[in-house]
Amino acid sequence: MIPAILPTYNRAPLAFVSGEGSWLVERGGRRYLDLGAGIAVNVLGHAHPALTEALTAQAGQLWHTSNLYEIPQQQELAERLVEATFADTVFFTNSGTEACELAVKMARKYWSTKGEDRATIVAFTGSFHGRSSAGIAAAGSKKMTDGFGPLLPGFVHVPFGDHDAFAEVMKRDDIAAVILEPIQGEGGIVPVPDQCLKGLRDVCDRTGALMILDEVQCGMGRTGKLFAHEWAGVTPDIMMVAKGIGGGFPLGALLATEHAAAGMSAGTHGSTYGGNPLACAVGNAVMEVVADEAFLAEVRRKAGLLRQGLEGLVASHPDVFEVVRGSGLMLGLKCRVPVGDVIAAARDAEVLIVPAADETARLLPALNIGDDDIREALDRLDRAAAAVKAPQPA
Ligand SMILES: *Cc1c(COP(=O)(O)O)cnc(C)c1O
Repeated sequence: MIPAILPTYNRAPLAFVSGEGSWLVERGGRRYLDLGAGIAVNVLGHAHPALTEALTAQAGQLWHTSNLYEIPQQQELAERLVEATFADTVFFTNSGTEACELAVKMARKYWSTKGEDRATIVAFTGSFHGRSSAGIAAAGSKKMTDGFGPLLPGFVHVPFGDHDAFAEVMKRDDIAAVILEPIQGEGGIVPVPDQCLKGLRDVCDRTGALMILDEVQCGMGRTGKLFAHEWAGVTPDIMMVAKGIGGGFPLGALLATEHAAAGMSAGTHGSTYGGNPLACAVGNAVMEVVADEAFLAEVRRKAGLLRQGLEGLVASHPDVFEVVRGSGLMLGLKCRVPVGDVIAAARDAEVLIVPAADETARLLPALNIGDDDIREALDRLDRAAAAVKAPQPA
């Protein structure tokens, strides 16, 4: 018999009833150190007082009106994002997937408004852009698209890191945009080198193709800058944001330059919930804390501490781990054993980490995780690694 919840997830047998900072309390009372943060969502941990205050104050006043009216909380959040980034304009969504939908629509509308027949979007293998029809067509992996055809047409896929293949496809005259994550998240914490991001920007400038960056996972302070592309010193034309921006409240955003957004006039896009007062009240509270240079400097310092510890962990357990990769507090442990075994052993040691592709365990802790919690997490991961059975020689 099919379960009451559509069985699209293999869930761990854990149910949490409360949280505080980087800790989650399970129904039975066991306390888990949370290095997953709801997959890079709870950027300020659980039950952060400023977010709770923002949400409850707004909840007592007004939940929802409509985008038929002005929404001051949305206006304020848009202005904060415009102020802090390359962007001139913002559209709010409820998720990263919806930001992807608008990114694709905006890029195509840009060219159609110009009267040019350029609708094809270049994407990279190993990427993840959400689960809508556009999102799975953009990522293109068989795992996500199998059985869901016909797929949304107009996407071409270039092997990640294949510069020649990329240069070749960009010679086509129908390319509207390039979409990529500065650091692939679901793909196994695989950063695009700064030089490549710069090169990609150059090609986009030369061909006119719009550069769409998916910072749903790597953005909102995760790498120690507000957005990951800042490290490379380039700016996109369009950027998808979600996950961390709501700190746990469903919220996403699509940021764009005035140039890229040129086709998006009244009536060309919309959302019932996107940017409603509740979501934006929380989003403003998140931005208030995260978009602050002193806070980001702390993220970089903590990232150094965690990374150094993980390098030590890999050195101590060379039969379990191969390498640490990633940036800031978006780190991956590439495993020599099935990643599921590592995740399970970590769970037994009461520390939560998240699986990704390429046998990689992801560490995406709250950005305000304490130094003590980092040390405790490293101890627990060390215990977990010791418990993982090394593969037996054949
Ligand atoms: C999670 C994620 C998405 C999809 O976001 P949802 O909020 O789950 O729709 C898109 N792109 C990237 C890089 C992500 O990590």
